[in-house]
Amino acid sequence: MATIATQPDHSLYSNAFGFLRQPLDFRPAESDADLVITGVPFDLATTGRGGARQGPEAMRKASVNLAWEGCRWPWDFALNDRLKMVDCGDLVFDCGDSEQMMQRLTAHAETLLDAGKTLLTFGGDHFITLPLLRAHAARFGKLALIHFDAHTDTYHAGGRYDHGTMFYHAPKEGLVDPAHSIQVGIRTEYTREGHGYQVIEADEANDMPAQDIVETIRERVGDLPVYLSFDIDCLDPAFAPGTGTPVCGGITTDKALKILRGLKGLNIVGMDLVEVSPAYDHADITALAGASLATEMLHLQALRLKPEA
Ligand code: MN
Ligand code: MN
Repeated sequence: MATIATQPDHSLYSNAFGFLRQPLDFRPAESDADLVITGVPFDLATTGRGGARQGPEAMRKASVNLAWEGCRWPWDFALNDRLKMVDCGDLVFDCGDSEQMMQRLTAHAETLLDAGKTLLTFGGDHFITLPLLRAHAARFGKLALIHFDAHTDTYHAGGRYDHGTMFYHAPKEGLVDPAHSIQVGIRTEYTREGHGYQVIEADEANDMPAQDIVETIRERVGDLPVYLSFDIDCLDPAFAPGTGTPVCGGITTDKALKILRGLKGLNIVGMDLVEVSPAYDHADITALAGASLATEMLHLQALRLKPEA
């Protein structure tokens, strides 16, 4: 009898250290996995409270009690029956060297994409999305962006690079097409004039049924290759207190889960979940929300990569 299980079983506490108890593999490009999970413990680009470098660790830990269901509610298939996944642990970089992190993350993602893998990446602060977009756009061309956040992250900020400016730089670099991109949950100041992204602001998102939001997103991105980026501060601080720049008036975890489930069938070629900062969390609320949203993303990939299973 195996006493160390890497596949789902009924233990809610025995950590296997890989997200959702998936196997660890430190040579993921050479594995036969369809999907690779990577943590990026980086938070030097945050402008608010720090601590998102410990996000990957917290989400992996919280994911242990999501791994016991044979078929995760309300899906009608078991993730591991369709999708072969590995967790390659965290990106290694000199923790004070932002430039090196960027170069290594871009190279890591490019290597995996060249090997035909799909990526789910955990932040870290939201800045990690820029090197990820560079790698994904190099492979798939200009991307449609589906972006959940309290902030547009399109600030010019004197041209600097931080976790609030990626989506200003991304279209300028030709990585993202704002005309086919959409931001959901925004509730902080931004310049509306010339803001090319479609926005569903938080008050609107709170008043709209999840299905209407889904339809708006689907119409915007069409059949383009999509990059899905989820900043946990899209959720109200009641549902995600553990984050660097919380803003009241966000959507519920329930609504976010429903929206993500509604995105099945879209050509989502890359995904990340960022800004979980466990030092400000309570009872693992935020880590569990992040892990749960990421698990829905994995179901979307299972359907995209193995539609016939
Ligand atoms: Mn944010
Ligand atoms: Mn953000």
